[in-house]
Amino acid sequence: MKSTQFIASRHYSTALIGFGPANLGLLIAAWRRGDLKELARDGIIIIEQATEPGGGSLGDYKITANSLASVFLECIDDKRLGDLFAELKDKPEVQLLRKESTSAPFLATVGKILRDMAHVVIAAVARHYDITVLTSAEARDIQQDGNHYAISFRYNGKDHYVQAKSAFVNCGGIQSFSPADYAPLAGQVLSSDRLLRMPAEELQPLLNAYPHPRIAVIGSSHSAVSAIIRLSELISDRDAEIAIYGRSPLRLFFESAAAARRADYQFNDEDDVCPLSGRVNRFSGLRYASHQAAVSILREGRLGPHSPAVTVNISPSPLTSASSAPAFDIGIIATGFSAKGPPGPERNSHADGRVRDNNGRVYQGLYSFGLGSGLTPSFKIGGEKSFRGKLDGVWLYINDIGDAVLDSYIKDHSLEKVAEGFPQ
Ligand SMILES: Cc1cc2nc3c(=O)[nH]c(=O)nc-3n(C[C@H](O)[C@H](O)[C@H](O)COP(=O)(O)OP(=O)(O)OC[C@H]3O[C@@H](n4cnc5c(N)ncnc54)[C@H](O)[C@@H]3O)c2cc1C
Repeated sequence: MKSTQFIASRHYSTALIGFGPANLGLLIAAWRRGDLKELARDGIIIIEQATEPGGGSLGDYKITANSLASVFLECIDDKRLGDLFAELKDKPEVQLLRKESTSAPFLATVGKILRDMAHVVIAAVARHYDITVLTSAEARDIQQDGNHYAISFRYNGKDHYVQAKSAFVNCGGIQSFSPADYAPLAGQVLSSDRLLRMPAEELQPLLNAYPHPRIAVIGSSHSAVSAIIRLSELISDRDAEIAIYGRSPLRLFFESAAAARRADYQFNDEDDVCPLSGRVNRFSGLRYASHQAAVSILREGRLGPHSPAVTVNISPSPLTSASSAPAFDIGIIATGFSAKGPPGPERNSHADGRVRDNNGRVYQGLYSFGLGSGLTPSFKIGGEKSFRGKLDGVWLYINDIGDAVLDSYIKDHSLEKVAEGFPQ
């Protein structure tokens, strides 16, 4: 991969801090839209903690995707990208996706494809523009310094510092919770994120330590149901018990209102249907493996004949409800993510990806839109009215989210150009 030599203390026009699916999606969207000239005017620097850019955390999860293989193929085959990804078409993992395009692929395969995509797009950008790529580099701090951002990071065993006019900070999410708050719940408490990443050799002995494990899962969204799928794969014991404690019932995704009605699913036409796509629970609904699992839980009370019993308990205060039950052996916390990464401005971003302080003031040139920061739905992107969460997903980063954030960037940038044009 060709890229410019790293020069400490240099000034760049753009810093991409963390290069998982969110910032990879942004770079691909910028290529598609022809926005790279602006982004790379004084060079782009990528600062990524992992040894390879692009895959982020997705490839670490031991579950299948919540999108079909065809969705990832659409990103590779997108005609608007010309032949950018032509060299990936013969890769075994891409061929595997083509063979099984109507099923949800393993996220390990998706992670590999995202790393391949990153390799190709960075090499293509480097052929035309000045781009510096640092891997095994950990961003440690980001501070506004006049009309720039000062970014401190650790690289090659040394502390370094660069300046960037704009920074896109997408370092993934963290499920942070205080173990003391969860002590009454269970003897052992872990996040769904950890559970979904744990190799089976590590997770199995933890579960085997209990004759008939009783497990509480706090949360009822995609991460919670993915955790239950994983646990049910490893616990073959009808006397084991998993209890879901959530604020909202298990919500299911459907391609259309007609499909939801055919399945006898109760939904609200006004609040749960996306006005742009007609999909039911487009952003909040459980898809594919999680959808099937939720249907089995609601109908059979378990995922398979030999799986643990699963109960669903919905209340305004799930932790209080769970803690008032007899103590569980294991508690799984699946209550959403906040933004991870270097300390700096609180990453409070809106539908435009611009970071704001708690009073709503925009940090000029600072953007964040990945897992844990996330964009809120907007008129342009659509989504069901009842959705209260943040948007994420590989397809969205390359398409709608990439567009929304780059629109903000270009607007911010052209405003600045007008200002520069005034005579002194
Ligand atoms: C369980 C689960 C399943 C999901 N399944 C899907 C799915 O099937 N399909 C889909 O489209 N989306 C899925 N998502 C959403 C998914 O998380 C996002 O699409 C994607 O992983 C988020 O990308 P990101 O770049 O924001 O974060 P991440 O994927 O976490 O990437 C962040 C990157 O930042 C780097 N980094 C972290 N800290 C630093 C630092 N200090 N300095 C430098 N670099 C740093 C990390 O090494 C990493 O490469 C899922 C999410 C979860 C939680």
